[in-house]
Amino acid sequence: MARALRTDGMRKCIGCFSCMTVCAAVNKHNFSISKSAIKIKTNGGLKHGFYATVCHACKDDRACLEACPTGALVERKGGGVLLNKDMCTGCKKCVDACIVGAVFFDEEENLPIICKHCGSCTRFCPHQCLTMEEVDDVL
Ligand code: SF4
Ligand code: SF4
Ligand code: SF4
Repeated sequence: MARALRTDGMRKCIGCFSCMTVCAAVNKHNFSISKSAIKIKTNGGLKHGFYATVCHACKDDRACLEACPTGALVERKGGGVLLNKDMCTGCKKCVDACIVGAVFFDEEENLPIICKHCGSCTRFCPHQCLTMEEVDDVL
């Protein structure tokens, strides 16, 4: 069974940025949060809490994939996409197309940064704000 990242517990977020650090370290071998596929932002001051921007694991219409002119994005089982780096030209059309603004961009590597729903971030969140949901395997 495939799994997808969910952010339903964000009301408990304290803005520690552990998830961003872990994501960058695991997926990019880099501790800069600018390399993370999840972005935590404040709603406007500590009092108002935080929200997460990350891939929603679209299944029916994957706007990022549809916008990619080279076929560098392929469907991930359970929703979302996987990046074939060798086919990417760095055109950023996927960045503009994502319905929730969750395709970030690594200017150094000239590649998009997109969550692959690995779940590493969920294991390091101290308040279980992020969880993995079992979803249908469908492409
Ligand atoms: S940046 Fe890469 S993955 Fe994104 S649309 Fe362009 S070629 Fe496709
Ligand atoms: S990156 Fe954006 S458009 Fe693409 S599958 Fe995820 S949420 Fe959907
Ligand atoms: S599930 Fe993996 S790729 Fe997605 S935000 Fe978390 S650590 Fe990054």
